[in-house]
Amino acid sequence: MGKINVLDKHVAELIAAGEVVERPSSVIKELVENSIDAGATAITVEIKNGGVTFMRVSDNGCGILKEDIRPAFIRHATSKVKEEDDLDAIATLGFRGEALASVASVSHLELITKAREEEIGTRYLIEGGEEVLFEDAGCPDGTTFIIRDLFYNVPARMKFLKTDMAEGNAVSNVIDKIALSHPEIALTYIKDSKNVLRTAGDGKLLSAIYAVYGRDFTRKLIPVDYTLGGVHVTGFISSPENARPNRNMQNFFINHRFVICKAAMAAISEACKGTVMVGKFPSCVLNLDMSFNAVDVNVHPTKLEVRFVNERPVFDAVYHAVKTALMNSEKRVEAHLGN
Ligand code: ADP
Ligand code: MG
Repeated sequence: MGKINVLDKHVAELIAAGEVVERPSSVIKELVENSIDAGATAITVEIKNGGVTFMRVSDNGCGILKEDIRPAFIRHATSKVKEEDDLDAIATLGFRGEALASVASVSHLELITKAREEEIGTRYLIEGGEEVLFEDAGCPDGTTFIIRDLFYNVPARMKFLKTDMAEGNAVSNVIDKIALSHPEIALTYIKDSKNVLRTAGDGKLLSAIYAVYGRDFTRKLIPVDYTLGGVHVTGFISSPENARPNRNMQNFFINHRFVICKAAMAAISEACKGTVMVGKFPSCVLNLDMSFNAVDVNVHPTKLEVRFVNERPVFDAVYHAVKTALMNSEKRVEAHLGN
């Protein structure tokens, strides 16, 4: 008798879920990205115990049509991609149709949503991937997800979670990146009943940076705005004397998607050679706008890595953008803010 089993649906789900949902911060990232894709202008995130027992994401986006609720939880079901060609130029943060299926299979999930074009909303409960309740609900336009008891049915995953404090910090990091990449969204973040972040949502990057990193940091920034080879680099970089011993505060966004961007990191180091001490790294918040088909975001389920069709223009644009900004460092923000 052969030794190969085709895994049953439930076991296959749990394995697949592991790729997208590693810890509470991955759930928050997926849910908030869905809210952004839904056109929300205000998003509230609340977590308790590092997110392990409780996470809530509410938005004022387009909501989910009643008939789309069950399909939204099927793996590879998405409203964002239809055909192969769509994959060449992805403009939304999501496109894999995996997040809801994954989160639902490893938690107690509650969804309350109302689509703008419908009269009445829905409350939907799903536990470990099994539907428990589907009922009409009076609620405002938009969507709320509440996730309780993450990994309650996957002890192996649960064991790998760090302390509530460490998990909470990872969530806070994700929230910071989202606040910085989407200044047009009013983001409120509540952690263990404390209001820890609120952005204005006025569309100004500087006010988002101020909310995330504070006044002292913001004052010392130098504006960056440079276009080369189809790459438009905008944002801010810290002055060389404020460089830090690690890259934790180097933030790169490609078309407003947070990514790990080695080409941009290398370009900054190269541009700062001679002005920044070896082993120190200037902080930055840089958005690289480029054509959607110049970059492949479909490299990994978490979408943190991207592949460029051509890396050179990215390096060159960032290099010259930073060089130019540093030469004009008298333009730094404090000159505009006053003291
Ligand atoms: P993806 O984001 O890759 O499409 P998801 O599993 O994250 O896959 O979501 C599945 C679908 O559910 C989305 O394509 C979208 O249509 C719908 N959806 C999820 N979250 C929201 C939300 N906050 N507002 C409106 N629609 C949503
Ligand atoms: Mg998604």
